[in-house]
Amino acid sequence: MARPTLSRRSAGMATAVVVPAALLIAPLAMQGTATEPVPELTAESVASDGYELPEIVPITVPDRDALDQLVATGVDLAEKVDHTADGLRVEAIVTPSEQQWLTDAGFAVGEAVLSEEQFAALQEEREDTVAEIETAEEAALDVGDDLNVQRAAWFDNLGQTFIQIEVFSEAGSSSANVLVEVSLDAGPGTPIGAGGTFNLSRFVDGGHYMYHRTGDPVPADPVPSRMRVRSILNGQVVGEAERPVTEWLDGEYPRGRGAPQEWGNLATGFVDHYVDATEATARIEALAAEFPELAEIVELPNQTNGYRRPAQALFAEKIVVDAPSTGAGEYEAVAAGFGQAPAAAGIPGTLARVADGTGDPADGCEALVGFPAGSIAVVDRGTCGYTVKVLNAQAAGAIAVVVVNNVPGDPVTMTGTAPANTIPSVMISMEAGAVVKPGLPAAGRVHGAPNENRVGVDSLAWGHEGGNDITVELADPGAANSPLSVGVTGDAVRVQLATNATGAVTSTAAQVVAALNADPAASALVRAYTWRGSPGGGVVAPAQTRRLTDNLSAPESVSRDPFTVKAIRIGTDRDGSQTGVLLYSQEHAREWVTPLVAIETAERLLRNYRSNPFIRQLVRNLDIFIVPTVNPDGSHYSIHDFTLQRRNMTNHCAITGASDLRARNGWGVDLNRNFRVGNREQGFSGASGSCTSDTYSGPTPLSEPEAKNEIWLVENNPNIRFAMNTHTHGGYFMWAPGAYRLPTRDGLERPSFGVESYFYAASDVILNRIKEHRGTSVWPSRVGPISDVLYSAAGNSADDHFYNNGIFAWSFEAGSPTWNGSGWSDVGFTPPYEEGHEEAQEFSNGWLGILEVAQMYGLDNVMPRSTLEPGRGPFDDPVDITFELSEPSDVYYTLDGSRPTFESPRIEFTGPRQGQEPITISETTTIKWFAVDAAGNIQNNYVPDGTRDNYQRATITIRD
Ligand SMILES: [Zn+2]
Repeated sequence: MARPTLSRRSAGMATAVVVPAALLIAPLAMQGTATEPVPELTAESVASDGYELPEIVPITVPDRDALDQLVATGVDLAEKVDHTADGLRVEAIVTPSEQQWLTDAGFAVGEAVLSEEQFAALQEEREDTVAEIETAEEAALDVGDDLNVQRAAWFDNLGQTFIQIEVFSEAGSSSANVLVEVSLDAGPGTPIGAGGTFNLSRFVDGGHYMYHRTGDPVPADPVPSRMRVRSILNGQVVGEAERPVTEWLDGEYPRGRGAPQEWGNLATGFVDHYVDATEATARIEALAAEFPELAEIVELPNQTNGYRRPAQALFAEKIVVDAPSTGAGEYEAVAAGFGQAPAAAGIPGTLARVADGTGDPADGCEALVGFPAGSIAVVDRGTCGYTVKVLNAQAAGAIAVVVVNNVPGDPVTMTGTAPANTIPSVMISMEAGAVVKPGLPAAGRVHGAPNENRVGVDSLAWGHEGGNDITVELADPGAANSPLSVGVTGDAVRVQLATNATGAVTSTAAQVVAALNADPAASALVRAYTWRGSPGGGVVAPAQTRRLTDNLSAPESVSRDPFTVKAIRIGTDRDGSQTGVLLYSQEHAREWVTPLVAIETAERLLRNYRSNPFIRQLVRNLDIFIVPTVNPDGSHYSIHDFTLQRRNMTNHCAITGASDLRARNGWGVDLNRNFRVGNREQGFSGASGSCTSDTYSGPTPLSEPEAKNEIWLVENNPNIRFAMNTHTHGGYFMWAPGAYRLPTRDGLERPSFGVESYFYAASDVILNRIKEHRGTSVWPSRVGPISDVLYSAAGNSADDHFYNNGIFAWSFEAGSPTWNGSGWSDVGFTPPYEEGHEEAQEFSNGWLGILEVAQMYGLDNVMPRSTLEPGRGPFDDPVDITFELSEPSDVYYTLDGSRPTFESPRIEFTGPRQGQEPITISETTTIKWFAVDAAGNIQNNYVPDGTRDNYQRATITIRD
């Protein structure tokens, strides 16, 4: 391997860093006060006596002129320029001596991004890898490639046929030079290749080779019956395998006691709109009341925090419209993320609506017509980018821009890039715009609010318990040398700001906060704070009386009290004697379809009980717990306030952090990250410690009442053997492990061979039921352990149920993508109800499928059978043995003649999504073993810790 090259100079030329005197004027040049160019960076201008390796360092320059000068030195720069608050940031690849030269020349050189040591380590790692690849390629050319066809499936989805193929290539695992090529036939009796030939892509995840795959399903018409896969290296075929292409979800069900049967005349379709938690809970309560023989309500003991918040106000950016305009008043605003920030003291001027003469004239998307220069432009949001509107207004002579939102709710931060933009702009809400616009033109001001000028105020009482009645005013006394003071009358808090000798306001945000918190009457009503930990040194702008609000807009029929989460328990024998199944929905609030799956299923079970023998059997054989919504507060918030709410509503942000009203859609704990197994606290990936992250795992595992409720249910009902954690969207059926540590991608034990085989067998029942509704196939690639088919989700609930309580715990993502003729489209969290209804119906089918699986489990008294493959021999060479099984089972075995027990070695999978790992027998050996199925039946009624020797045994004879 080539060593890293020397940097751009000869070694050993001089002993000191020489900075030519001419260079010392460079900083001045950068400030634009001199015109002399910076000299070139050459071997002669930077000389060192050592062997140096370059490092990557950031350099920040104030403007493009300075950047041009930096470029003119000939320095090696990475091909990107970041626009930061401090100027333009580039990355230079320079040696330590060159860094010194650049620093002396006045450039702001940062800390190395990639140091010499790291660089050397990278080189070494690369050399090692190249050596490994070379060895693997030589071996493949020599002895060939092992190809393991993990999946070769075709399926029908909504009337169209698709294939999905996954192949593990031993040679391809080490080298990306190995091509994996698939040839299909065109149906039975046709030659391989008649259905087309294509290459699979190499799937590397988290730095680890997984397998080669088609990726998303691809259309296949006609349906192939066989495929050939070949691995090719340097034009030479190194591996080849031929396999049938089998149908995925063929609609065939297992046989046996309690096995799936035709559903017959089953009444369905009991939901007709999206529901919030209040309505979902009322539905199950009404059902339990109507069917007291078959169902009861279980109140979960941990009440939620409730759909409630303190009332808040934030004194920050605003616009003021003066009387006598009909729109006179103060309105909250949010400054744009580009252009100039508006001054805190306010930019006075005439607010005037714009007209551009084209399309919607008020949107300001074209050159303005007749705009009075020197005014503040009022523009409607929509049609074109914010920067287009602001630049059009600027071109017409506007001194500031007020954009009026075109959707209800908060104004938002306008984003974009507009280096030519020199005037400030803010957004106000659509509601404010509706009051302001009819009264224009009118005199007024646009006030900015740098962070240190802002004051936040929260009520101590919840909004609905009086917080929403509190008002706060920051009054200008209108007199010189006035002290800062606070007065309270009823719910009205009045802060009189201090002034100086000229009558100008002098109170800083920190002073206002301290005065409010020190005043006994005010501090009994509110708590004040500076912006997110700011020292608050900025002078606040006077503000008219502002009413605090909890910003919660659900109707009064939604209680603001802590919510009691409820389950409906369905079954004729609800005494713990039957196999228990926990079906729960809506840990994530925005997944609106999931409570409908729950309600639809509860209705189907109870309303079909008398007329439908299939349902009657399920209700008699099982003990079914259905929780339509784990996260009621989040559900109310998502339905009534903020559709994308995922978490619960509890704010764990500190008062010095994101606790102000602008962060209120960022609060809450991700309940599916708040559990005890494989969680963030233990170093697993896929959860955040940030209180505003959508995967925030909470302050501690099980900190949240909603998570505690799930654990209470399974711990108080040990008969629960199955659980389904229902989410949207994507169309997934998944199980443990659901989390891993990085970079190793492990950390939780994989299910045993028997359990994983059982999961795949169960998925066949459950997913065929889903498909029966309207032909939706959950893709083959979306069935398996969460950590294989989705991503690591540290601290999720299914893992807790599986690892802590031995429950067969699954997760659904309802809402499969739909094929639009050329690609797959996602259905989203809140699809139009027409689609949501279909998803609820098909995943309610899936829930009934789970109940069928559980019923078979409960009634299963059939012992598994197992045989050795191949048989006893004799053999001339070492032989690989596996076990043929009559049903999904674990096999415990010994090779040393001892009695097999549950402590003995167990058969395993070769790897994720692969077959049984064979046992190599190289000398004559007696194997003793037993098989045990998912329900715990043991082959031949063998008792591993008993005394009878009725285990299985076979002697494999290998000739010397
Ligand atoms: Zn979810």
